[in-house]
Amino acid sequence: MSKLTKVILSEKDAPTHWYNINADLPALGVELPPPLHPGTLEPIGPEALAPLFPMELIMQEVSTERYIEIPEPVQEVYRLWRPTPLFRAHRWEKALDTPAKIYYKYEGVSPSGSHKPNTSVAQAYYNAQEGTKRITTETGAGQWGSALSFACQLFGLECKVYMVKVSYEQKPYRRVLMETWGAEVIPSPSVLTNAGRAILDKDPDTTGSLGIAISEAVEEAATRDDTKYSLGSVLNHVLLHQTIIGQEVIKQLEMFDAGWPDVVVGCTGGGSNFAGFFYPFLAAQIDEGKKTRIVAVEPAASPSLTRGKYAYDFGDTGQMTPLMKMHTLGHDFVPAPIHAGGLRYHGMSPQISAVLDARLIEARNTTQLPMFGACKSFVQAEGILPAPEAGHAVWGAMGEALACKESGEAQTIVFNLCGHGHFDLSAYDAYHAGKLEDYEYPDEKVAASLEALPLIT
Ligand SMILES: *Cc1c(COP(=O)(O)O)cnc(C)c1O
Repeated sequence: MSKLTKVILSEKDAPTHWYNINADLPALGVELPPPLHPGTLEPIGPEALAPLFPMELIMQEVSTERYIEIPEPVQEVYRLWRPTPLFRAHRWEKALDTPAKIYYKYEGVSPSGSHKPNTSVAQAYYNAQEGTKRITTETGAGQWGSALSFACQLFGLECKVYMVKVSYEQKPYRRVLMETWGAEVIPSPSVLTNAGRAILDKDPDTTGSLGIAISEAVEEAATRDDTKYSLGSVLNHVLLHQTIIGQEVIKQLEMFDAGWPDVVVGCTGGGSNFAGFFYPFLAAQIDEGKKTRIVAVEPAASPSLTRGKYAYDFGDTGQMTPLMKMHTLGHDFVPAPIHAGGLRYHGMSPQISAVLDARLIEARNTTQLPMFGACKSFVQAEGILPAPEAGHAVWGAMGEALACKESGEAQTIVFNLCGHGHFDLSAYDAYHAGKLEDYEYPDEKVAASLEALPLIT
């Protein structure tokens, strides 16, 4: 019999509910500290978020219901590209000469090319339901801005995207994609907001950062009645929407007759694709006692999980968001312009941070040259060109596979290939030309940024 290469679930096997890990945190021994008001430092209730988000998303943020039903109009949009395929990397296994069995979930088949529409569609839907007319957001590499532009267009909402300036200049095609879906795209920092003007006064040549762009988008939403704000990662409800990924993977591994994986690997920026991929494995750990190693990979240039501090910090540079306890490099962190733009955030999702603190997962980092090396090995065997963000998961999976070669163990490795790199060819070009440099965030800079953390005990 021929070897199975991919499993595509039928639409009727698509998940109908999101899995809410909040319900299981106590059973996992994880404590999730509450967000605090940036002024009073008291825990904030859901109503404090009402100027920014529709009520349904705020309720999901704090819900402890284990499964939350996906509204039919959202499922209907998901069916444009979901369920997504799970592949067995036969050719890459052979190229690596490893006894390991490698599987990868491919989220790059979505209209915008990554996992992000899983949440943007849900967020646009709930906003439209509650009468929102406009949504503001920030985008780094342009993946989130694209996903939200697409979703807003489907539900008749205007979309304004503050795009980190360095990406706006490096990635004009992402801007064109967003504009084609009907969005307005502004390079950040801009002169349109107080937050943007304050940064430009201090540093007119700044390349921008996600933290700054968030401040701009939040300010606009907070000061206009018809406008809400939308975040593509970090928050509980965003991670929740991504859990369809892992639910599909578990069914697909069964159809492959793959057994339970020894290790699952994902990349982390704010933590959403990784969470959506592995949370359902933790649910199975609770329900059936099945265990797997869970490995997060992040860039050495933006190492919040591996070198940041687990402390309360602002989500943005302008200090407007609630304080969240998370692994952070400090809210005034300005990353080097490495190519994995979607992973250049100073913080990490509070849920993922708490799960790491409870030692349920492991975290690693890599510089970009070894990461692109892993991508090249993967693309030449499997054909799919990974986004540099997803390349961190490729690198992590390759490390596990090579360790198996060393030990002779035929482990089962599953990783999340959360996006394609068709808009990142200039990064591959620079890699081929030998122009990419390895960069690790220096210790002095980590220490300096952490000094600016608000003191909360
Ligand atoms: C946005 C993005 C990421 C980082 O965000 P997470 O919330 O950590 O998933 C990673 N990969 C791709 C392809 C992205 O677009």
